Amino acid sequence: MKRFFIISRGDQASHEVVIHIRQELQKNGWQEDNQHPELVFSVGGDGTLLEAFHHFTHCLDQTVFLGVHTGKLGFYTDWRPHEVDFLLERVLKDSYEVVTYPLLELNIMGNKGNERYLALNECTIKSPVKTFVVGIEINGEEFEQFRGDGLCLSTPSGSTAYNKSVGGAIIHPSLESFQLAEIASINNRVFRTIGSPIIFPHHHVCDLIPRTDSHDFFITIDHLTVHSNEVNKLRFRVAPEKVRFARYRKFPFWTRVKESFIQESVD
Ligand code: NAP
Ligand code: MN
Repeated sequence: MKRFFIISRGDQASHEVVIHIRQELQKNGWQEDNQHPELVFSVGGDGTLLEAFHHFTHCLDQTVFLGVHTGKLGFYTDWRPHEVDFLLERVLKDSYEVVTYPLLELNIMGNKGNERYLALNECTIKSPVKTFVVGIEINGEEFEQFRGDGLCLSTPSGSTAYNKSVGGAIIHPSLESFQLAEIASINNRVFRTIGSPIIFPHHHVCDLIPRTDSHDFFITIDHLTVHSNEVNKLRFRVAPEKVRFARYRKFPFWTRVKESFIQESVD
């Protein structure tokens, strides 16, 4: 017997797909489990898969994710609603490969201790009103003082999301790395930042030491916002955990990039 769970965007089109998947799997003896599913279906968009991921960060090593898109093609959603029967056939035969993607680890270090988070897309640190000032250290060594709207630290699979909007590079998810990109830095004779995105390998650590009062900036982790008082340091690195996706057919990352941003394929 297999355990599954389905997360839906909540709209009518997604709802119908969910009902169909649930019926088919239950008919074949599969059981719905919201604690430790082996297979998690996300039906909706990339945002739906982010939600699914955060639901199951406690059991990433035992869970594989699978995305059906009921809107446009997404980066974490391979399947269209009319392909679901074909997909279910494969799911029931258990004939899938597992593809793993790197994650970003964030440790928020404050006076009261540490809070640890994982991001599938990115973390941002932003100040909506005041200029955000932060010291950046790389592997324990001072690198620069940043002044501006904020910073975006993204995973390779998140590089096509927020990171892309702020001029970051697109990184293939087979590269165990994370990227630091600036959001509107102030650069003049007095204030200087590197000005281009930086890509870190998996054994490097990037620390942010905020000089702006904790009340005046906020931290986002994918679609979530974290309110954290008394932040002394934010420590980023590639997480030891990975996210696992079930792959039932090839869908190369660069094809996905092309179809999302350049040109849709006609079929
Ligand atoms: P949302 O406002 O619906 O997301 C914004 C867009 O980003 C949606 O079109 C979403 O796709 C897409 N997206 C999510 N992950 C992606 C990825 N890995 N590659 C390419 N596109 C991706 O909010 P949400 O659905 O809760 O997603 C949260 C994400 O939104 C954050 O992680 C951040 O990356 C992104 N975001 C971007 C900006 C920006 O570009 N200025 C600002 C805020 C947040 P779906 O429609 O399929 O969900
Ligand atoms: Mn969304």
